[in-house]
Amino acid sequence: MAPAADGESCLKQRLDISSSSDHSTTPQLQDDYPPQDAQWAMLRPVAKWRAWYNDINKSNCAVLILTHGVGLLGPIFITCQWKTLLFALSYAYLLGFGITAGYHRLWSHRSYNASLPLQYFLAVLGAGAVQYDIQWWCRQHRAHHRYTDTELDPYGAPRGFWYSHIGWLIFVNRQKIGFADISDLRNDPVVQWQRRNFVLLALFVAFVIPGSIPYWLWNETISGCIVYAIAFRICYLHHVTFSVNSLAHWLGEATYDDKDTPRDHFLTALVTLGEGYHNFHHQFPMDYRNAIKWYQYDPSKWFIWVCEKLGFADNLKVCADNEIRKSEYTMQLNSLREKQGSIIWPVRTCNLPVLDWDAFQTLSQRQALIIVAGFIHDVTSFINEHPGGSAILISNVGQDATAAFFGGIYSHSNAAHNLLAMKRVGILQGGFQPGLGMDKAIPPSQRLRIMQWEEIVEKEL
Ligand SMILES: [Zn+2]
Ligand SMILES: [Zn+2]
Repeated sequence: MAPAADGESCLKQRLDISSSSDHSTTPQLQDDYPPQDAQWAMLRPVAKWRAWYNDINKSNCAVLILTHGVGLLGPIFITCQWKTLLFALSYAYLLGFGITAGYHRLWSHRSYNASLPLQYFLAVLGAGAVQYDIQWWCRQHRAHHRYTDTELDPYGAPRGFWYSHIGWLIFVNRQKIGFADISDLRNDPVVQWQRRNFVLLALFVAFVIPGSIPYWLWNETISGCIVYAIAFRICYLHHVTFSVNSLAHWLGEATYDDKDTPRDHFLTALVTLGEGYHNFHHQFPMDYRNAIKWYQYDPSKWFIWVCEKLGFADNLKVCADNEIRKSEYTMQLNSLREKQGSIIWPVRTCNLPVLDWDAFQTLSQRQALIIVAGFIHDVTSFINEHPGGSAILISNVGQDATAAFFGGIYSHSNAAHNLLAMKRVGILQGGFQPGLGMDKAIPPSQRLRIMQWEEIVEKEL
């Protein structure tokens, strides 16, 4: 095959190959990229107050009411041993890794490879978190990333904090969520094994095991086991995960991009096993880390890292530092540009009148005008404030003081140069001396200036 002449023909060649290939062997993508997403995003009928229960997700509500009722109201009436409470929190933490390191970073984003034993381990832990199976969870989450903050986002933050936290589980989504490719998960034996056995796994890992351990090991009461080790723990871990969809889209900094709602915050990271650097995550979802600075809290990253050291994981994906810093610095430049906008700058050169030498001399009779680097400056109001004394300034009125200003008499500071530029009132025709560096004409504060691309294009054109 002859080499492509250019990029366009190369692309055409590739398209020709793909159009002529046999598609009978191509796997069917069931939830994958329709031609127009909008055609699938059909609104459900408008809710009617009298039929409000039709819009309630009854199975979700049953689980949430039961866990919240027993887990949050139970402690008012029932106490437990401190060991049981410690166990409940530790067990929730362990199961949480099934969600963060498993459901999220492994299966949703494929940010690292896990050995088969680790996959099964995470799948079992994830089932114990009672957040549906891997395929369902990742389906929602991939749509969330693909359609962040739009109507197709299953838990879009613009619909309100509580909607993105728990409302999307209580109410039937009025709009079909956006499509996402989950063909890899449909063909993943561990994911499908967990899906087939989800109820049994959840029953054992979320109820039987945590209910038995306190009962058998330190004689906790049955009611103590149910309230603290089961209901409270499920409830707690639910809200840990829910916080990634709500708190992480509401609290903190847009460190890498402010186009959408994801934010970075230590508190969210603390609550969510390290998922709180969500602005970074939405920009670099293929990175196995959420926190990239040494002082940031991301136990899920450490968990994956330890698994790698133990030989259970490999190919931990890390985005190029150059690209990460590019995004970070862009935001910092944006912030500086906003601050720069609050500064009053010298009158633009194009708005200054051009005077010849005679006109300059005439005007100098009435005002204290001096020339520096081809610009005419009115220093009348500054004569008594000049740190070097008024006499030297008065002696330069009506003169070209360029050499004196730049070292002839005194080498002025950058701040003095900036201040001088604020006193520009005109340009002397032919007054810029050949050989004088442009740095003499441009004050230090304006030599490096942050500009939007539109401004640059405007200047170029
Ligand atoms: Zn998010
Ligand atoms: Zn994600």
